[in-house]
Amino acid sequence: MLQLQQIGATSAGLAYIDLLSYRDKLMELLLFSSASTSTGFLAHVAQEIVKRRNGRQRALFIPFASVTTSWDRYTDIVREALKETGLEIRGIHEVVDSLSEIARADCIIVGGGNTWRLLKECRDRAFLDAVPKRVRENALYVGWSAGVNMACPLIATTNDMPIVDPRGFAAFGLIDFQINPHYTNAVPEGYGGETRDERIIEFLTANPTARVLGLPESDWLHISSTQAELRGETPAMLFLANQPPREIPLGLLPAF
Ligand code: ASP
Repeated sequence: MLQLQQIGATSAGLAYIDLLSYRDKLMELLLFSSASTSTGFLAHVAQEIVKRRNGRQRALFIPFASVTTSWDRYTDIVREALKETGLEIRGIHEVVDSLSEIARADCIIVGGGNTWRLLKECRDRAFLDAVPKRVRENALYVGWSAGVNMACPLIATTNDMPIVDPRGFAAFGLIDFQINPHYTNAVPEGYGGETRDERIIEFLTANPTARVLGLPESDWLHISSTQAELRGETPAMLFLANQPPREIPLGLLPAF
């Protein structure tokens, strides 16, 4: 798991995450709140992969979050949308020996959908150890929505309904904080349920040592061996137990 540390004050007076002190020096992650932005479906994802591809060729797509669209179809859609990356993308459900394929993959792409279903399928196939191991060996991890929830220690800050029982909430644990994808605290008129902020605060009340980053629709994180950066259009929102939510501006992530 990534260990976040401070390296001291910068000219802006903020302490930034020192990724050089991470134990997992080789990890590189692209974590997108959403598959779609104003640029279209996965267009921002394709663009970022092209920048970070670095000669990587063999990509595996994990489509298990999809519930109403078949995994074949979902894989075809993603393959088409990410064509310009030049990656050779295969659906993990199509390969004969998925664990050996993970061990040889240069890039692991985890699509959105229902996070509970995704975790259950990954646990059933013993991917919870295999995927983080390969990412620590420098396979690029690309996830959007449910794929972001899976990079966290737990899937407990997903927005999804628990439609299947994943037998525990522990996920890949590639980072040591929680992300809430599709973050917004907008409340439709006449809505009487909990707001997003209230749900996150409930999570922190039950899990006071956790940290939750609310990642708005247009945003993503690029985490590499040298820096962790918030990219996109809108500031993110950081939630810590017993503290008011704090806006996190675009740019290098402050230590939190
Ligand atoms: N269902 C979302 C997605 O994958 C994940 C979430 O909202 O937690 O798009």
